[in-house]
Parts: sequence; structure tokens; C-alpha cells
Amino acid sequence: MHPPRRILVTTALPYANGPFHVGHIMEYIQADIWVRFQRMQGNVVHFVGADDAHGAPIMLAAEKAGTSPEAFVAGIAAGRKQYLDGFHIRFDHWHSTHSPENTQLSQDIYKRLSKAGLVYKKPVEQFYDPVKGMFLADRYIKGECPKCGAKDQYGDACENCSSVYAPTDLINPYSTLSGAKPVRKSSEHYFFRLSDEACVAFLRDWIDVPGQLQPQVANKAREWLDGEGDKALGDWDISRDAPYFGIEIPDAPGKYFYVWLDAPIGYLASFKAYCAKNGLDFEGFLADENTEQVHFIGKDIIYFHTLFWPAMLKYAGPFYKVPTNVFVHGFITVSGDKMSKSRGTGISPLRYLELGMNPEWLRYYIAAKLNANVEDLDFNPDDFIARVNSDLVGKYINIASRCAPFLRNKFDGKLLSMEADGAGAGSLLDEVQSQAGEIGSLIDSREYGKALRQVMTLADSVNHYVDEKKPWEIAKRAGEEHQLHVVCTVAINAFRLLTLYLKPVMPKLAENVERFLNIPPMTWQDAGTLLPADHQINAYKHLMTRVEPKQLDALFDLPAAAPEEKKTVTAPAAPATPPPAPSPAPDGSSTISIDDFAKVDLRVALIANAEAVEGADKLVKLTLDLGTGTRTVFAGIKSAYAPDQLKGRLTVMVANLAPRKMRFGLSEGMVLAASGDGPGIFLLSPDSGAQPGMKVK
Ligand SMILES: [Zn+2]
Repeated sequence: MHPPRRILVTTALPYANGPFHVGHIMEYIQADIWVRFQRMQGNVVHFVGADDAHGAPIMLAAEKAGTSPEAFVAGIAAGRKQYLDGFHIRFDHWHSTHSPENTQLSQDIYKRLSKAGLVYKKPVEQFYDPVKGMFLADRYIKGECPKCGAKDQYGDACENCSSVYAPTDLINPYSTLSGAKPVRKSSEHYFFRLSDEACVAFLRDWIDVPGQLQPQVANKAREWLDGEGDKALGDWDISRDAPYFGIEIPDAPGKYFYVWLDAPIGYLASFKAYCAKNGLDFEGFLADENTEQVHFIGKDIIYFHTLFWPAMLKYAGPFYKVPTNVFVHGFITVSGDKMSKSRGTGISPLRYLELGMNPEWLRYYIAAKLNANVEDLDFNPDDFIARVNSDLVGKYINIASRCAPFLRNKFDGKLLSMEADGAGAGSLLDEVQSQAGEIGSLIDSREYGKALRQVMTLADSVNHYVDEKKPWEIAKRAGEEHQLHVVCTVAINAFRLLTLYLKPVMPKLAENVERFLNIPPMTWQDAGTLLPADHQINAYKHLMTRVEPKQLDALFDLPAAAPEEKKTVTAPAAPATPPPAPSPAPDGSSTISIDDFAKVDLRVALIANAEAVEGADKLVKLTLDLGTGTRTVFAGIKSAYAPDQLKGRLTVMVANLAPRKMRFGLSEGMVLAASGDGPGIFLLSPDSGAQPGMKVK
């Protein structure tokens, strides 16, 4: 037996200027699964997070909101719990970088670095806003592009011509805070000597430690260390001038630590506060050489975590510990679009919860798509529905829902002993049990997707066994009670093992299963045992519902339902002034004028391609050729036409219908088909000789 591992786990500190977005939630889910798995292994894990509260953006946001920065970040912090609880993300402690612990630790680390000769001062000339009375970071300066003259360009690059330049190159620069013309002003700044020879040598060695960084991350860090010319590794400006919302630099009046210095120290500050609250030895835990310090972060902050952070900790010296691992993940995209809070697109985690969607669907889905590489993860609504409904509910939950009722109704919920009488089932349970080690090591190495694929393959085997034995048929035959008992006992034992493997991903579900199976909380070791003879399970209650497509429509704020059926064109919206004395049309609907009809642009279209739409029973995806270009249209005609039958046909489409965003993509028009009260849908076609693009009138 190995002694248990001792691990401090952190996630990147979210900037306290807004609520969590789904990117945060993805990272926390990734780390939370890892932490829960380590605990199931018997390891000692402390899992902490905190708000990154400092910096000019927060100071200015607070000012705009008419409040103090302290009150502003406290308000943000108060909103965190509903997200974390909502998605079963269980940090041991949540703290803030605006805290006494962080002030003390930041100043301590600074003093140690200073003593090691790694801090120096030099004057820096910067833009200064004379009205606002503060130095301006590049993002607060705009002006005209020096290359193309475009107005209102930021100080680093032109959005019009893409040229890159320094803020000092801007023509007619102005401060975005006050509109004033900034002046150049010099001020003393403090620098961390990152380019120091010994420091660079240390970082090279640290990056090369096998298994510590993902290969892509190590390569990136090495690139920065090897940079030459204007890409050469520079020293790091760690100070900012007042007014600044941050931590004061000791013995340097009016100087504050740059937010990126004290932000990662916030990991330790949070842990320190947690230790104080729980009577743990903060310094002792970190000083222990067997302790692991593990950071989960996104790919946008690799630079800080593979250069500055390890160097700071190394030269601060013991008890500080250089990170054991920095685990980097990619971004989450939604059907290919990068999640960006500035653009406000994508999934709102709070809306997800408000819609009553099961948080463990999202945990499972994210886990199923995560691996150990720095890759973006795409949230695809159809894929989400398929994985939850087919895998989770259809394969896994199905095992219990099919077998548990027989055990309750016929055998008082009691199980047989599997050791005594396997009836050919021994090999199935052996198979499920034998994967514990491999699934465990996949989760440990953050290959969650592979681990879940393995679990679902096992679920397939178990379902295959149940399908073959058909307990529902055995139950109808007299004298085969024992056989029924064996099959259901095997299935329930297998279900318990699958639940154990899924427990880090779906802790709440596992808790409900443990209650249903009448067993104590499972650890990974329990994979080595089966439920004993005569163990009595509780009545089966439904464990998980299926996700409904309309829930995803609501999540993305789409029109409630996709039109599943197209009928012949109906009258457009009533004109603003009704025509005089409308005479009734044959079917009783009111008439329209020829001008109204002319508003509908009907065209002959060639069906260039037709394909089924995964997850939609009634829809066919059509690619329509109009002679001048193609359109994609989703048509509700699948019940009447196989996609292959449609290819090459001519039909009639409404070419000027406003595009409609559907769950499966954008529909850019509609095709005309007739239908009546009975079954059948009949697509219109022109007589032979008509060409794609011809107007129908
Ligand atoms: Zn330009």
C-alpha cells in the first residue's frame, strides 16, 4: 500500500468583475471530478478557490457603479455560491485576494524575492491622464491608427488594418476614462528579475520535469524562454502607481503590487484561511516534500503559471512550494463559436439551472468530452441530447430500472450470493470489476472522455446480458424464480460498480444510488467486492430523466419549437389597412391583394443535396440550388420522403423568408408542400423545362 497522497488543488481565480460564465464552470467541473476521484482513492486533498479582486478594471467598475471596490467585489462574491452549489462543485474554501492572508503572503514573498536580489527599480515613462490623475494602461488609450488613420483605435493594434504598434504611436491619443489628452510622465517601477541567468536555468529544469506539464504547455514555455530579439524574455513589471485597488508594496509609498503578482498568491491565501479555520498546519503541509501542489488553469494564462509563478515560489524559498503540476485545458465553444463573455453568447450557467436542467447532465457531458490535452471543447446541443439520453439514461439508468422492480416485488429486495452461484454471470461481473484500475488511472490522468467511454462499453455488456436473459419473460414462467433472481442480482451488482466509476462525475446521482442500494458511500476500493448474499436494496425510484430538446431551445433562447411541417404557402401578415369590403375566399379566409402576393419571392429550386438530421425525426436538411447560389433549408418532410429520393428533384421555395435559427442550424427559406387532414405530404414540383432560380408568379 502506498501512503495516501497529500494534494493542494486550485482552479484559476476568476476576476471579480462579473458572474461566472460556462468556461469557469467547465474548469471547476474538471477539477472537482479529479478531487472527488482522489478522495475516493483515500488521498488527502484540499481544494480551494478565491476571487481575484484587485486591479484597475475593478476599481473603475466600482466607481461606475457608485460604490467602493470592497463593496463591489463583496457583491460579486456573494453571487458565487449558487453556481458552485448548483453544479455540485465542492470547494473546501472560497476566499478573496482582497484579504489579510493575501496581503501578508504577498508582502512576505516580495520581501524574500527582494532579499534574494531579484527585485530592482527603474523609471518607466507612460501615458498619464491629467484629469483622472492616474497612469493609463494601454486599454484605456485610444486614438487614430498611425498606418491607416482609422479613428478610435486601441493603443496596441488597429481593428481596421490590423497593424500593431505602441500606444505612443497613436495620433491624437485620448484617455477613454476622461477624454483628456494623455501626457507622458515618468514613474519609478519595481521589476522582478525573471531574465536572471539562474532563474532562467531553474525554469528550464522545472519545465523539463517529466509528467509535470503537458507536452504542448512545456513547448510553449520553452518557446518563451528561448525567445530572442524583441521576443527575448524580459523582466516583469510588478508595480502600479496609486490610485490602484491592490496591495501596497512594503516601504514604497504610493506603490501597489500589479494584480498579477498577488492573484496566484491568492491560491495560498485561500488555503491559509482554510487551514486557520480547520486547525491545519498551513506551512507544515506545504513544506512537506511529499505534498503536491496542483493548479488547474485555462490556456490563456499559461505564461503566468509556467514562468512567473514557479520562479516566484522557487526564489521565495521554503516553506513555499514550486507547483507539482499545472494542468491546462482549452476553451469551451458552443457549436464552434468561442465562448466569450464580452460577446455574451453561449450558455448561461444560471439560466441552465433556472430552467431546471439537471446539473449532472452537464457534468457528464463535459467530462465525456474532456481529455488531458489543451484542446477546446465544443458544446453541441444535439450531441448533448444524444449523450444524456442514449448513454446515461438509455444505457446506464436502464439497467436498474429494468431489474430492480423484480427484486423488490418477488424477493423482498434481497440479493443472491454471486460467489455461490454465478450461473455464467461471473465472467460479466469479473469484466466490470477488472476495469477499476484502468478507469481509475484514466481519471487520474484527466482522460475523462476515455474513462467514460470505457464505462459505457461496460454498460453495453450489462445490457446485452439483460437483453439475452430477458428477466421480464422469465418472470412469467412458473418455476424459474431462481433464474430470475440470478439475473437481477447480477444486473444490480453491475449497476453498483458502474455507479462507483461514475461517482466522481455524478456525485449526487451516486448518492441517490447508494441510498437505493442501501449501502454506505462507495470508495474506489469497493470495486473489489460485490454485494453480499441477502443484502436488501430499497425500492427503485426514478434516478434521472431524459433531456428534452425544448429545454435546449430555451437555454439558447431560440423560438420554442422548430416547425416540423411545412404547408402550402399561407397569406402573409394582414396589411396595415384592411382592403375595402373583403369578399370571402372559397375556404372562408379573407382575400389578399396581388401586391401582397408579390411580396412572396417564390423560386424554382434544385434539391442539390438532402440528408437526415441527427436527433430530428421529421426533418430533412436540404441544400437548394437557386442558380445563383445555394441555401440550406430544414423541411419537415421526412415522413414522406427518404433523403435520397429528393436529390436532383426540382421544387418551389420561398426565397425571401427571414432566416430562422433552429437547433440544427440556420434555415434559409422553406419549400412548398401540400398536406391535408389525412396522412401524406406532397412536395410541389414545376413541369419539365423549368430552371433553378426561375420566379414563380
Ligand atoms: Zn489602421
